[in-house]
Order: sequence, then C-alpha cells, then structure tokens
Amino acid sequence: MKVMTLGAMLATLVSAAPALAQQERIVAVELGAEAVPASGAIKVATVAIRMPDTNVAAGQPLLRLPLVISNVKTSAEDLQDLQVRDSQGLVALSVRDDPAGGQPYRRWIPARAVNGPLQVSYRIPISNAANPLGAAPPLELRSDGAVFSGSTGAFLVLPDDEQAYRLKLTWQLANQGAGALGVSTLGVGDRVAPKAAPSSQWESVFVMGGQVGHEPARPAPDGFFAAWQGQPAFDARGLMRWTHELYGYYLDFFKTPSATYNVFLRTNPINPGGGVEIGNSFVGTYDQHTDVDRFKVTLAHEMVHTFVDTLEGGGLANSWFNEGIAVYYARLLALRAGKISQADYLDDLNSTAARYYTDIMNTTPNADIPGRFWADTRVRVLPYDRGALYFAQLNDEIVRASMGKRSLDDLLLGFQEGRRAGQPASQAAWVDAVMREVGEQGKTQFEAMMAGRPIALRSEAFGPCLRSTPVILRRYELGFTPDVLIEKRRIVRGLVAGSAAEKAGIRNGDEIVKPVPQDGIQGDQKALLKLQIAREGKVMDVSYLPRGETVAVPQWVAVSPSCKAAVPR
Ligand SMILES: [Zn+2]
Repeated sequence: MKVMTLGAMLATLVSAAPALAQQERIVAVELGAEAVPASGAIKVATVAIRMPDTNVAAGQPLLRLPLVISNVKTSAEDLQDLQVRDSQGLVALSVRDDPAGGQPYRRWIPARAVNGPLQVSYRIPISNAANPLGAAPPLELRSDGAVFSGSTGAFLVLPDDEQAYRLKLTWQLANQGAGALGVSTLGVGDRVAPKAAPSSQWESVFVMGGQVGHEPARPAPDGFFAAWQGQPAFDARGLMRWTHELYGYYLDFFKTPSATYNVFLRTNPINPGGGVEIGNSFVGTYDQHTDVDRFKVTLAHEMVHTFVDTLEGGGLANSWFNEGIAVYYARLLALRAGKISQADYLDDLNSTAARYYTDIMNTTPNADIPGRFWADTRVRVLPYDRGALYFAQLNDEIVRASMGKRSLDDLLLGFQEGRRAGQPASQAAWVDAVMREVGEQGKTQFEAMMAGRPIALRSEAFGPCLRSTPVILRRYELGFTPDVLIEKRRIVRGLVAGSAAEKAGIRNGDEIVKPVPQDGIQGDQKALLKLQIAREGKVMDVSYLPRGETVAVPQWVAVSPSCKAAVPR
C-alpha cells in the first residue's frame, strides 16, 4: 500500500523535474527487466537508449562499455540483440576490445558513417556467476528474486567520446507487478542528472530495480533512502533505521547540508560484509552469515566516504587518506552517537590493529600500493589499517600538543571547510594543515607512514580509559604466490615449504577452481581458507588455517568499567 503511494508521489516528482535547456545534450536510458514467470526471478535486464545528434565516421569508435571495472568483469561480452539505429536505419557494427590493463573497453565500430539521433537497444542475461577475477566490489549486474542491481559501468553502453551530457534514467517496470520500484544513485524513481558530464562519469551510477525492499516508506526530508534486494537473515528495515539515525549524526558532525543519499544492500558471494561508495551513495553487501554488529561498522564506514572525499589526484595512492579516515571515524562516530557499544568499538579497533601488526607487508611504501592493490590482500588492506592507525597517532599528537583542547576533529573539519571554500585538498595541503596543528613532527610522522615505517601508538593513544596490552597472534600466510588468485586460470605456484597450504596437501600446478575472498579471513585469526582444487581431472576440497609465524601485537582493553571519559576524543 505504501509502495503504491510512493509510486504516485514519484510520478509527480518526475513531471516537476526542471525544464531542460533547448540545446542541452541528454542521453536517455530506459531500464527494465523481462517479464518473469511465476517464480518472479529476474534473469534478463533490458536497456533502450536515445542519444543526441551523433556524427561518427565509418570505422571510428561509436559506443563503448568497460570490459573490467574495479576488477569486476562486466557484461560487455554478454550483450544480446544489440541494435543501433540512426536517421538512415540499422547500423552494422564490429567489435574491438582494448588490450588488458588500465581501463579496458569493448568498443563498437560502425561499418558506415553514423548521423543524427541514435537509438540503441539490447538485452543482458544476468548469470549471477562469481566474479572470475576474484575480490571485487559489488558492481556487476546481479539479481536476487525479482530485484536486479548493478553499476552502469558494468552494463550500460555509452557514447565513445568525451562530450558532456546529462543522463536521464527512466524505469520500465510495469511488467514487474504492483509495487515495483527503481532506485539509483541519482535518486528514487525516474531521474535526470542535475549536471552534464562525459561518459566516464556516467560509469558509476548504481541502479536497483524490481520488488525492492526499502526504508523509509518514502524519501526522508534529509534525503536518506535505503533499498535492498534479497532476503537478509537480519532485520534489514531495523538496520536501515539505525543507518538513517547515524546519517543524521554525520550531517551534524560534518556540518554538511542534507542531499539525496541512497543506501543499497545486496548479496555478494565474495567478501560479503563489505561495501563500496559510489556516486555519493553506497552499496553494502551481505550473505546469510553476515554478523549484523560488524556490518553496522561497514555501513558507518561507507557513509564516512560520502562526507569526506579523497584527496585530489592520485587514486589508489591516496587511499591511505579516504580509507584511513573512514576506518578511524566509522567506529568513533558510531560510538559517540551511541549507535554501537564500547565492546563493538574495541572489537573493530583491535581487528584493525591485529591485521596491521601481523601483516608481513606492512612496511610496503605507499607508492607501491596502487600496483599491488588487487593482487595481494596483504597490500590491499594496508591503506585501511595503516591509514586508520596513522590518524589515531595524529589525533594523539594533536590532543597532547593542545593540552586536550583540540583533536583530529578540528583539523579534519577545518580541512573540509577549506575544501568547500575552494582551497586545494591535495596531499601537500593536508601536510600543511597537519603542521599547523603539531609542527614539524607532523611532517616527519606523515613521511614515515608514507615510507612504510611501522606506526607506533602509545598505550593511552585512545584516551585514558583504554590501554594496550600485547597479544600473540599469527601472521596471515596464503602459502603460495598471491597473484595466482587474480589470474584467469588460477594455477598454484610459489608454494611455501612448511606452510599450512603445503601441509594441507596443495601442490604447485594445482588449479583453484573457484575464486576465493581473503580480506575478511586475513582479519580473523581462526578463519579457514577453503579452496576447491582441480588436479589430474579430479576436483577436491582443501581447507587450512592460513597462518604463519607468531608476532606480539598491541590490543586495547578498557581500564575499568567506570572510567569516565569512555568515549575517546
Ligand atoms: Zn572504504
């Protein structure tokens, strides 16, 4: 009933969309799914696109779609019934794929010159196969029952040029039954993007359509709207209410005006419990074993990204900043807001410290991280763990230098204010801001962190109510060359003599049949790695505890239950 009301309200919203200037370029996308039989499961998405006046010579690239985006294999090779028409009718196309590496695209090349408005249509089968490239964010087209979702970069064919246009998204869900709803990072229902941008910008619009679950019943005045697919084992509505309340706390803390803000939840067979920030919104992933308390910290993390953008330029080389800030503030703000317990806070802090201090790659210089990020889980987690501990160390410095009057909050909020006022938000600007708080010491510590020197935290770094105590833990050890796991055929090589992998019976030359997630396992001392191995035509399951040598790491505990300053600054 409420859903119907929402549909009616959205129809009003669409007609109230701002009038479009006459010459403005619009690429209009109609997104739907094929009518589903009684089961309701969506197996095919449909796309129809109208593009403005196009003039492309024969043999020149006309349309494109990434083959791989953020290590996710896209639908580019799976499109069916692709038809392109211009003012003269059907256009015959050939396909050209970029070589692997960088951002590879599939490009469609017309056999003749193309002129006038284009109409493009195609179908996309949704296989729900696990990403063959291993660990990756939840961007591929995926369906659960009567809902499908994905990032445009994984399925939307766009003009192969750099001209700016506004994207218009219209949902065709009439065949999906009463209450079907489309939601995207552009907002709820049919939307036109507020600003023009080239195709590269339109590769990161997340969409979810069909019989979506949602909370609240209609978009809230503060812009929050959550949508999910699948049947989580936890109370999704309750969790999204929790998230909405924390969002309200963030709006105050970061002194940010409210805006359209969507949260999406969906299943993910690889690294469930993780999430990704996309288009000023975020996608969280779960499976049937997701621990809702840990998942809360993930949701809190992804929301920090919305409020604190990364530094200018640098991509993954700046991930120490945006991931470190997100890890540091997710648990801290959730604790301050009263949305998690001190035990949850400590659990999260200690898992960051444990993963960092047991990581044999933790001296990797920051400059080496982009090249190894997807290839080695021990490098991939470093910007998160090392970044968060760097910010904890910096906060400790600021609190002490100011005799408790200032904290990292003041530095970050001032930096953000400057950014909004148009001041540079570069790495150099960050270091300058740090030096204004703590002097030359701030620069020295920053450079040490970037060079990969271990971060040493004082026992009292998280305030007088917490202290550190050494605990013996074991390093994560896959037991063979980690690059194997992101290769097209995962053939084991570089088996480490004496490792748990070797003792479990794995041999060089074994083929790992299914991709395996590692990020969560690396942070969990007791988690087993489960591999399916093919050897001489036989498939077998192997599992082992992927741990090597022991190392003493600091873990924080509460000094006493009655300590007054329970919430760290
Ligand atoms: Zn993040």
